[in-house]
Amino acid sequence: MDCIFCAIITGDLPASVVHRTERVIAIRDINPQAPVHVLVIPIPHAPNAAATAQSDPALIGEMVIAAAAVAEQEGVTDYRLLFSTGVEAGQTVFHTHLHLLAGTTLAERLV
Ligand code: 5GP
Ligand code: ZN
Repeated sequence: MDCIFCAIITGDLPASVVHRTERVIAIRDINPQAPVHVLVIPIPHAPNAAATAQSDPALIGEMVIAAAAVAEQEGVTDYRLLFSTGVEAGQTVFHTHLHLLAGTTLAERLV
């Protein structure tokens, strides 16, 4: 399988890792859209958040906890968490990931 995030998890592709647990990795987005833009990625490959939730519901909770830990580490109390599913929703990498966006006043409109 050709998956960028699996390659980052195995270390075959470099990334700026900001947090790691046994089941989750958090990396800085290569093309940040806010001063803090981190991707929280579950280590088991699944194509989107619903697929991860179906196979391992607790893992979604672990991702949210990891995002909160990263926010604290980055010194922000207010942040946005976002999953995109499908091309029309802007998903470009088909390995589940949670965007953590923070560090500025985020737009009230989401799209
Ligand atoms: P999506 O568009 O699927 O919701 O989010 C994918 C995110 O992954 C994008 O924000 C994109 O900038 C980021 N991304 C794509 N390739 C890489 C990469 O090789 N390294 C890192 N750190 N981020 C990446
Ligand atoms: Zn993958």
